[in-house]
Amino acid sequence: MSERIDGADRYSRVDLDDGGEALAREVAEGTRGLHQLPRELDPLMAAAVRRRAMELRAERAGATLSLEHIGSFSLDAQRASTQHCENFAGVAQVPLGLVGPLRVLGEHEQGDVVVPLATTEGALLASVNRGCRAIQAAGGARVRVEDVGMTRAPAFRTSGLEEVGRLLEWVESHFDRMREHAGKTSRFLDLQEVRPKVLGTTVFLRFRFLTGDAMGMNMATIACDRLVSELIEPETGVQCVALSGNYCVDKKPAAVNFELGRGKRIWAEVELPREVLERILKTRSEMLVEVQLRKNLHGSIAAGAMGYNAQFANVLAALFVATGQDLAHVVEGAMGLTHFEQRSDGAVYASVYLPDAPVAAVGGGTGLDTQRESLQLLGIRPDAENPGRAARRLAEIVGATVLAGELSLMSAFTSRDLARAHERLGRGPSERP
Ligand code: NAP
Repeated sequence: MSERIDGADRYSRVDLDDGGEALAREVAEGTRGLHQLPRELDPLMAAAVRRRAMELRAERAGATLSLEHIGSFSLDAQRASTQHCENFAGVAQVPLGLVGPLRVLGEHEQGDVVVPLATTEGALLASVNRGCRAIQAAGGARVRVEDVGMTRAPAFRTSGLEEVGRLLEWVESHFDRMREHAGKTSRFLDLQEVRPKVLGTTVFLRFRFLTGDAMGMNMATIACDRLVSELIEPETGVQCVALSGNYCVDKKPAAVNFELGRGKRIWAEVELPREVLERILKTRSEMLVEVQLRKNLHGSIAAGAMGYNAQFANVLAALFVATGQDLAHVVEGAMGLTHFEQRSDGAVYASVYLPDAPVAAVGGGTGLDTQRESLQLLGIRPDAENPGRAARRLAEIVGATVLAGELSLMSAFTSRDLARAHERLGRGPSERP
């Protein structure tokens, strides 16, 4: 009854039997919710029922709908539907390409990597690849990474200053106990800091944890839940109103994350000689420095932006899709600074600083089949004996790739190449007016 995908022990398409067809009709008619399929139904069959229901729904409205491509995939439907995506119906495919080689001179990665990027934006890979060539010709990008850790900040309701004082005193004198208690929730979680903030009668406790090779958001949330419900509330009598009080700050650009960091802090730099600037990037150092000042600094200040850069988000989004990172973290990663400085003999010094880049080598979407392959392509393998190293290595690659993207796009601005490249590489004939 199933169609087998060549070479893979997976089935993405199933023919519905009468029972499946009946379920699809009920979903289409609205008498059964998308989430109300029988538990024992195979996840591939459940996905097929949901797609068929949508086709029947369209038919009822007099339209024709085919979800054939959403229903064609090789990933593990059992895993996808139970760990990653409820009401699983199929996949959204995103083209994936390769850029490099890119020489990364980090503390953990010392060599040439080829980087997978998944995007729908034509011209992006051509641009980043050109940046990689420039870095390669200059001998490589030096990168440093600090593992800041993952943060979660529950919000507590107090009656006023006296209770605030008692709570803060309790927190200060119970750090070791909280660290020990939190550590019981995972082999890889280690409490580093509790930073309080008081606003009105609300107290935020911003917990910061090291989480090994995992990005750590589930781990931090679980640890905070235990700390709040088993220690802080019973022993202080102060009630937690929200486990995430938005002072964490998860998935929102925020000054506190820019200042204190979150996930990984990444610095990457390269010095490009005049010859490399002219031959590969078709630009000159003084032009890059001026565009940096007027666009990335003046422009971002004028806009009130927190990203003083050209396209961190583009490179991060493409790398995050390819390697299974949490995509919403692009809004945090997009904060940061690009810097250009003239050096002697027409050379330019270029650097990027990303204060808030949550990345993972294990957990979350990193275990999905295509994402796991991308991590393997980069040589990223978590090692339980040395937790955190694989994620720091990935962060070094992220930093060097972001730098490559900045070099190329900033150079394109100086040569007014941007619109031409997008016209040539980012548009199909049907989209031309
Ligand atoms: P996770 O997949 O929930 O947990 C990571 C797991 O990997 C832990 O069980 C850990 O072991 C295990 N592990 C094995 N080797 C490890 C190593 N070398 N280093 C670290 N851990 C290792 O992942 P997470 O990073 O905590 O959370 C990521 C997920 O959270 C993403 O799917 C994201 O979308 C989601 N998320 C959740 C929230 C939230 O509020 N809960 C918010 C945003 C995003 P142990 O068994 O010892 O712990």
